[in-house]
Amino acid sequence: MSASIIDGKALSEQIREGLKREVDVLRERGAVPGLTVILVGDDSASQIYVRNKAKSCEKIGIRSDVIRMPGDTPEAELLSVIDGLNRNPDVHGILVQLPLPGHINEENVLLAISPEKDVDGFHPVNVGNLSIGRDAFLPCTPAGCIELIRSTGTEIAGKRAVVIGRSNIVGKPMAMLLLRENATVTICHSRTNGIEDVVRQADIVVAAVGKAHLVKKHWVKPGAVVIDVGMNRLADGKLAGDVDFAEVKDVAGHITPVPGGVGPMTITMLLKNTIESARRTAGLS
Ligand code: NAP
Repeated sequence: MSASIIDGKALSEQIREGLKREVDVLRERGAVPGLTVILVGDDSASQIYVRNKAKSCEKIGIRSDVIRMPGDTPEAELLSVIDGLNRNPDVHGILVQLPLPGHINEENVLLAISPEKDVDGFHPVNVGNLSIGRDAFLPCTPAGCIELIRSTGTEIAGKRAVVIGRSNIVGKPMAMLLLRENATVTICHSRTNGIEDVVRQADIVVAAVGKAHLVKKHWVKPGAVVIDVGMNRLADGKLAGDVDFAEVKDVAGHITPVPGGVGPMTITMLLKNTIESARRTAGLS
């Protein structure tokens, strides 16, 4: 058996077409969605991510601004810029590109962003609202994973889901979202005993570890949906996921490739959150 490949790029383009139509409607009503990204320092990967986000915004009509600050910017100065953006009614989404230079406390920065403009969904207010079932900005990567699973036609409710990884930005919110969809959820991490046996029970596997090719064929139940969040740079410069795609595709029912799976969906969900924020500000939600 060979898995069907979940095309994250195609799904992403399809969703973005719908989002563009939503932006057009908002524009007609004078509510142009706006996202501001703050980049501190000159990390080369971050520069690429920020450029991609700005380009994706522009393509569908979202106004995007990038504030570039030197790597030695004092934390207080960054917090003051965020404060100004919190008060600016034309800014609907604020995103601080991570990682930040070592002298800046990421938590302080995260807490400074108004939860109403936290389109990354990382603020504790949004995390808390998600966990108690209230409206919240959903964290982009896990929200994208849910869309990818849905696109396979798989009913999530009642299924056994295993999330590998328990980070605050991917693993934990992923588990929360699967729970919200009524899956029976298990979270694995670096201290899990017998991880292969745990993963093999899953109808849905989400790998968010950061270790190339960790998940092997014998870890996966035949027919399972396998979502690979991992983005690992190999010695030859190529990008690889956390799942050994070459062998797991022979046993899974559906599988995301790396690249071209989860990656494109993350930015799409960021665009979606920014539009939602603009709609709320305009009183249209
Ligand atoms: P992270 O903060 O480093 O967390 C990794 C998690 O994996 C931790 O919970 C860790 O367990 C667990 N882990 C480590 N080794 C393990 C092992 N051998 N077996 C089982 N679990 C293990 O990473 P992250 O930020 O969640 O990111 C994970 C991956 O997703 C990375 O490759 C990252 O680049 C990628 N990513 C992709 C996107 C995208 O848009 N495609 C977005 C975000 C992240 P402990 O908690 O016990 O240490």
